[in-house]
Amino acid sequence: MMSSFNSLEAALKHFFGYDRFRVGQKEIIEDAIAGKDLLIIMPTGGGKSLCFQLPALLKSGLTIVVSPLIALMQDQVDALQDNGIGATFLNSTLSYEEERSRQQAILTGKIKLLYVAPERLLNSRFSGFLCHISENIGVNAIAIDEAHCVSEWGHDFRPEYRKLKQLRQQYSQIPILALTATATKRVQQDIIQQLELRQPTTHLASFNRPNLHYEVQPKEKNSYYQLLKAIRQESGSGIVYCLSRRRVDEIAFKLNNDGIEALPYHAGMEPEARSQNQTRFLRDDIRVIVATIAFGMGINKPDVRFVFHYDIPKSLESFYQESGRAGRDGENAKSILFFSFGDIKKVDYLIEQKPDVSEQRIARQQLNQVIDYAEGTDCRRTIILRYFGERFSGNCGKCDNCLNPKPIEDWTIEAQKFLSCVARCRERFGMTHVIDVLRGSRKKKVEQYGHHLLSTYGIGKDRSIAEWKMLGRSLLHQGLLGETNDGYRILRLNKRSWEILKKQRSVEIAVDIKHKSTGDKAYNPRQAEAEVLYDKLKILRKQVADLQSVPPYVIFADSSLKLMAQLQPQNTKQFSNISGVNSYKLQQYGEKFLSVIQDFVRSQELPKKLPGKSNMQTLQLHQQGLSIAEIAEARGLTVSTICTHLGELLEMNQPVALNKLIDPSIQKVISEAIEKHGDKSLKTLKEALGESYSYNEIKLVVGWWRSQGNI
Ligand code: ADP
Ligand code: ZN
Repeated sequence: MMSSFNSLEAALKHFFGYDRFRVGQKEIIEDAIAGKDLLIIMPTGGGKSLCFQLPALLKSGLTIVVSPLIALMQDQVDALQDNGIGATFLNSTLSYEEERSRQQAILTGKIKLLYVAPERLLNSRFSGFLCHISENIGVNAIAIDEAHCVSEWGHDFRPEYRKLKQLRQQYSQIPILALTATATKRVQQDIIQQLELRQPTTHLASFNRPNLHYEVQPKEKNSYYQLLKAIRQESGSGIVYCLSRRRVDEIAFKLNNDGIEALPYHAGMEPEARSQNQTRFLRDDIRVIVATIAFGMGINKPDVRFVFHYDIPKSLESFYQESGRAGRDGENAKSILFFSFGDIKKVDYLIEQKPDVSEQRIARQQLNQVIDYAEGTDCRRTIILRYFGERFSGNCGKCDNCLNPKPIEDWTIEAQKFLSCVARCRERFGMTHVIDVLRGSRKKKVEQYGHHLLSTYGIGKDRSIAEWKMLGRSLLHQGLLGETNDGYRILRLNKRSWEILKKQRSVEIAVDIKHKSTGDKAYNPRQAEAEVLYDKLKILRKQVADLQSVPPYVIFADSSLKLMAQLQPQNTKQFSNISGVNSYKLQQYGEKFLSVIQDFVRSQELPKKLPGKSNMQTLQLHQQGLSIAEIAEARGLTVSTICTHLGELLEMNQPVALNKLIDPSIQKVISEAIEKHGDKSLKTLKEALGESYSYNEIKLVVGWWRSQGNI
C-alpha cells in the first residue's frame, strides 16, 4: 500500500507539503493504517483531519467522512482539492445532476475522501449506493468527525448521530475513527458505546494550546477604546465576542468608524446576511468579525490571529472553545478577556432570571470558574488545564501572569481597617460608601448618617480609592467578605471576615501595578524586511484566492508565507522546500510567488536609505498600535511631522501599515493624482485633489508610491 513512499513523512510532504507531524498525529496514522478502531481526542487546531486524510490516501478504496456541518464539509473539500487530492461531498445543497456526476466520479475511483452528512448516510437511496461502492471500490474506513454529537452529555447532541450505529452493524469489517475536541470522560464513554467501537485505542492529546497567548485586561473606563487599541496592536484576522446582539452591532459599527474593517454576526440577523459576513471574513475581505457565541461551530478559519472577549464568557469551557478558534494553524495567536466587575453583575442578574434553581446553581458555578480564571494570579494556562483535569507545572512564559507576575502582598492591616469600617457602618452600605468613610470624604451622605463620627473615619487616607477597591474585590473573590444579591451589593461580614478582625487570619492579595507597555522591541532590519515581503505575499495570496473564490488560507497557510518571506527562495527547488508547498501547489502557484519574491530581493539590493533615529522612534510607536495623533502627543511633535516620518518610512519600505492609516479608497484617488501630476510637488497634488484630501494623507501616499519603484 505504501510502496511508493519511504516513510510517512515523505507521504506527508507529498500530499500536504508539511515537513513534520504534529504531536500525536503519526501514532494515530499508524494505527489507522493498521485498520484499528480509534477514538481521537484533540483540541481544536490540533490537526485531527490529517489523521484520517493521510491514511485515506495511502489505502486503496474510499474513506467516508461523516461531518455534521455543510460549511465545514465545503471547507475541507476545498482545501483538499487545492492540494490536488480527490475529495468531494454529498449533501442537500446539490442538484440531482451534480449529485449524479459526483457519484460517477466516486465509482471511477478518482475520489479518495467522501464527506457526507449523517442523515444522508442512512437514507435508503444512499444505502444502495454505499453498498455498490463497498462492492466495487471498497470502503477502507469511516471517520466520524465531531463525534461528541452522539452523546447527550456533549455540548451539541444530534439525534441522527445515534443511528450511525447501524453502519457499524451493517459493515462490521470497516474500521471506525471517531474524532472530537470535547474532553469529558462521560462523553468519551458514550462515543465508544454508541458507535460500538471495537477495542478502540484512545488517543487523548493534551488540551494545552502552546501557541496561544492568554491575557486578561481589567476593563478601563473607556473600554471600547481599550478594545480598539488592542485590535490595532494585532495584525491579521480576529474575532470579538460580545454577550448581546445589540452590543455586537454597536461595536462593529464603531470599529468601522475607526478604520477597522469589521462585520457583525449574530442569531438575530437574516441567515443570508450572516453567511455573507462569514464568507467575507473567511476570505479576508474584512479583518474582524464581531459576534455573539452563535458564531463558532461552523467556522474553521485556521489563520485567526486573535480572539477577544469583550464581555465575560459564561463558562470556562466555552471560553476555552471560543479562544481556541484562534491559531488553529499553530502560529502565534492571542486571547484577551476584558473583564469588569460590572459585567459579572449583569450576568449574575441574567442567571437570577432562570426559573430553575439547580440551573441557577450550575450557571453561577460556571461563572465563578471564569472569575477565578480572570482574577487568578497563577499562570492562566495552569488554571485552564486544571479545569480539564490536566496538570501543568508552573511558568508557561506566554500569559500575562507569567510575563508580568503581580506581586503578592500582605494587606492584613488594610483588610482589618476595611472590615471594621463595614462593621461600624452596620453592614448596611456598599463598597463606595465604605471607602468614602475610610478616606474621610466630605460627601453629604457620609455626614447624613453621622459616619464622620465613626472611629474608622479617615483612617484609610494613605490609600487611593482604586487601591481600596482592589482590596474590596479581592476580599469578595477570596470569600473573605460577602455581599447581598439584591442588586444593592451591600457588604456583609462572614465567618472569615471575623477571623480577620480577630487577627486569626491574614490576607494576601495580588497587587495590580499598572505596567507600562512592553512594546520596546529592538529594531531588527532583517525582520523588518521580512515583514514587508510578507505583506506583499499576502496581497498576492488574496488576489489568487479571489480568482478562485476560496479563502486565502486555502492557497497557503500564514506559516508558509512567513517562511517564504524569511528564507526568500530564489528557484523552484528552494521554493518546494518550504513547509506547506507540495508538488501540486508548486506547479499551481510557484511561479507567481517566486516572481514577487525575486522582485523584492532585487529591489532590496538597490542602494538604500536607512531610517534615522527620529523616524525609528515614530515607527516603533506606530508598530505598538498608536494612532498618528497619539504618536504626536507621545513624542511632543506635530501631527504633520509624524506624517512626514511615516511617509519617509514608507518610501524606505519600512513596515508601516498604510491601510490602517488611510482608507484604501482614498489611497486610490491620491495615487491616481500622483500618476497624473507626478510626486515632486505636494502643493500641485493638493490643488489637484481639493479640500477633501489633506497634505498629511498625500505625504503618506507619495511615500508609498515611491516605494513601489515609481521614482
Ligand atoms: P482540528 O480539526 O483538529 O481543529 P485541523 O485538522 O483543521 O484541526 O488542522 C488545523 C490546521 O493545522 C489546518 O490548517 C491544517 O492544515 C494544519 N496542520 C495539520 N497538520 C499539520 C502538520 N503536520 N504540519 C503543519 N500544519 C498542519
Ligand atoms: Zn502562564
